[in-house]
Order: sequence, then C-alpha cells, then structure tokens
Amino acid sequence: MGEEVILIVEDNEKNLELMRDVLAIKGFATLKARTAGEGISLARAHRPDLILMDIRLPDMDGLAALAQLREHAATADIPVVAVTAYAMAGDQERLLKAGFNGYLVKPVDIKTLRDQIREFLLAASRPDGT
Ligand code: MN
Repeated sequence: MGEEVILIVEDNEKNLELMRDVLAIKGFATLKARTAGEGISLARAHRPDLILMDIRLPDMDGLAALAQLREHAATADIPVVAVTAYAMAGDQERLLKAGFNGYLVKPVDIKTLRDQIREFLLAASRPDGT
C-alpha cells in the first residue's frame, strides 16, 4: 500500500500547519488548501484518499464545499471529515446528515489524530460503511 494522501482544507494557518506536521510525521502525504475553492480544485486534480474539511472558510462554508465535491464525479466518493469547533451534539448530527463521513472536534488531539484518520480510512473502505 502506498502512502495515503490527506487533503487538509483549513484557513487558520496555525491549525493547518499543526495538522500537516502531525500527519506528515505519522507517514501520510498531505495537500494543503486555505479556501474551499482551492480545496475543491486540489481534490479534483489529486483525488486524495481523505479530505479534512474546516467548516468556517473564507469563500464558502464546509457544507457547501462538501456538496460541490459530491456533485463532481472525480470527487464524489472521497471520504470527507468535518473539522469543527462546534461542540454541540446536534451540530455533529447535522454534519453527518449533510453527508460528512465523520467529524473531528477542534482543537484536534494530536495524540489520537493518526488513529482517528486510520478509522475514517478503514470505514470508507468498507462497502456497508460500518
Ligand atoms: Mn476556519
């Protein structure tokens, strides 16, 4: 199995660099985008194995970006995980209903990030989504 590619879409430079560094140390290849539009372009061009999507982005929110990814054949099946500061359970349910494959709550726990990413990749590889 080759190195898995994770696309991080995050407009906060510190969060972006932190996630990138942790994922790189853990053996993932990474792509970075600071806007939803840039993320969608990179996703279409590179077909990453997983996308980590911030919800509050400068050009459109993460839900709108997810909808655009799902509409385009090249990116429709890529698992997308919301990265959100929203702590309320209702919001997390809303994200899953919107079609995200999962969510990570900020601040991201760097000790468990690798295992969480592995879980998302594994779940996405199972046809029944369990
Ligand atoms: Mn943001």
